[in-house]
Amino acid sequence: MEAFQQLDFFALEDQYSEEELMVRDAVREWVGERFLPLVMEHFENGTFPMELVPELAELGVFGPTVPEEYGGAGMNSVAYGLICQELERGDSGLRSFVSVQGSLVMYPVLAYGSEEQKREWLPRLASGEVIGCFGLTEPDFGSNPGGMLTTAVRDGDDWILNGRKMWITNGTCSQMAIVWTRGEEGIMGFIVPTDLPGFSAPEQKHKWSLRASITSELVLEDVRVPNRLRLPEGNGLKAPLGCLSQARYGIAWGGVGAALACFDEGLQYSQQRIVFDKPLAGFQLAQKKLADMATDITMGQMLALRLGRLKDEGRVTAQQVSMAKRNNVKLGLDVARTVRDMLGANGISLEYQTGRHMLNLESVSTYEGTHDIHTLAIGHELTGLPAYR
Ligand SMILES: Cc1cc2nc3c(=O)[nH]c(=O)nc-3n(C[C@H](O)[C@H](O)[C@H](O)COP(=O)(O)OP(=O)(O)OC[C@H]3O[C@@H](n4cnc5c(N)ncnc54)[C@H](O)[C@@H]3O)c2cc1C
Repeated sequence: MEAFQQLDFFALEDQYSEEELMVRDAVREWVGERFLPLVMEHFENGTFPMELVPELAELGVFGPTVPEEYGGAGMNSVAYGLICQELERGDSGLRSFVSVQGSLVMYPVLAYGSEEQKREWLPRLASGEVIGCFGLTEPDFGSNPGGMLTTAVRDGDDWILNGRKMWITNGTCSQMAIVWTRGEEGIMGFIVPTDLPGFSAPEQKHKWSLRASITSELVLEDVRVPNRLRLPEGNGLKAPLGCLSQARYGIAWGGVGAALACFDEGLQYSQQRIVFDKPLAGFQLAQKKLADMATDITMGQMLALRLGRLKDEGRVTAQQVSMAKRNNVKLGLDVARTVRDMLGANGISLEYQTGRHMLNLESVSTYEGTHDIHTLAIGHELTGLPAYR
């Protein structure tokens, strides 16, 4: 296969600043040179290349929109979106690693933490010295996290945490966890160092999706957390939902990245693969698939870009984020499934990227609000009628 060629049917390249393109190109190059050569082996082994963490930090992808005084890069949201696009062009597991660190761990510390917590944790998270995870989902509460059973009970200057979280990205390789609990005062967030007695994070094995990403259970058995680690502003369900909105924003761009990777592979393959004496790309059925995919990707690119500009203007709504996450992940999945088919038997080989993206995107469609939950969020916005219950 030739080097990656990005589809840009509507000359969207014009719509980005020089700085945004510089960031995109730096991440694109890194993904091509450093990550893609390793991903197949990690996907097969069910591991994440932790040795690349310092390079990711050097690229500035951990909390890129966090202000520089806290160790971030102070970038705008469009640059962050392009980072997510390029990382997910590599693998959804890579983008997940970065989304969790930035949007689900650094963001709550920045938005809901005390000044002391920000100074203590953010620079170390930005440099990758500390890896964090985000524990919201429980065995019985995923789409409806408000039902959570994990508890926090006050005991003098400490809180005693008990409960179980499931499906937590990076749990086993984290030094700290943002844990959401229920207490007398309602839902509360805590920074929990993972070496506290009573805390454990066994890895969840046997996944066939997001294999190059660590997924874990969090077990909290009488974990004593000092009050200074409670997020003072992280109260009520709106606090974790605010974090999810940040991460979903990045996923909306990531879906485009995965789609671009698969489309490029499908286009090149169909131009080279000879069937019935001519290239597959020369048949009408193949051209219809390519034309449909190119159109859908172009619409997804425009949606992501507009979403990013609205976010940078401070005008974005959670419902717009829902629409973009829902649409662009579906776009990625549809493109991956179509290209998998066009690759024939090669489509099931990890020597090609598309099958891996297709499997990964099943998780991406489920996490951060399932496709159907975002349907209900949009429906609620349009009709004023909540249909969740
Ligand atoms: C690989 C991976 C990584 C993850 N990482 C994290 C993480 O880092 N941190 C974290 O906290 N969580 C994480 N999650 C969990 C994820 O956010 C949840 O799986 C997701 O919210 C869905 O919850 P659930 O699995 O309990 O499904 P359920 O909520 O049980 O949903 C099952 C089905 O019911 C549908 N459904 C639910 N409610 C309704 C309704 N009202 N109306 C109609 N249909 C409905 C859903 O759309 C879905 O199809 C991860 C998940 C995966 C797979």
